[in-house]
Amino acid sequence: MKFVADGMLGKLSRWLRMMGHDVEYSIDFTDDELLALAKKEPRVLLTRDFELYQRSITRGLEAFYVEGVTEAERLAELSKRFGLPLEINLEKSRCPNCNTKLKPTPKENIADKVEENTFKHYQEFWLCPKCGHVYWQGAHWTGICATLREAEEKLKLL
Ligand SMILES: [Zn+2]
Repeated sequence: MKFVADGMLGKLSRWLRMMGHDVEYSIDFTDDELLALAKKEPRVLLTRDFELYQRSITRGLEAFYVEGVTEAERLAELSKRFGLPLEINLEKSRCPNCNTKLKPTPKENIADKVEENTFKHYQEFWLCPKCGHVYWQGAHWTGICATLREAEEKLKLL
């Protein structure tokens, strides 16, 4: 799906990009820029600002007022509203930093970009062709999966 997120939703934007969604986000977007971006493609506007939410609805744009406080709560809300699967498949992921689609990359190509231990212990790596960031399912992956499971539990209660 395509979203545009307000300046308060940086972390959620990173999550949605990892889940494969196209999310425009910048802390510098003004309300008018957010509305213009939502209208142009169109994109669903995600916002924590109820007034902005109402403005977009009045203009006939699709918007979602994010109420949850934790990322798990927010992901559960979005999953319920838009039917988003609560999973991350790096084959489909976008770069959390810059929203570009990640590409699997041969290990040899990133030898100088990760620490020696990481290079030794992991076999699969993904590279962002735009910003050059390298991703792998490292120690932080357990935390990512735990948040997704938490979101699934919260979804059952919504
Ligand atoms: Zn990137």
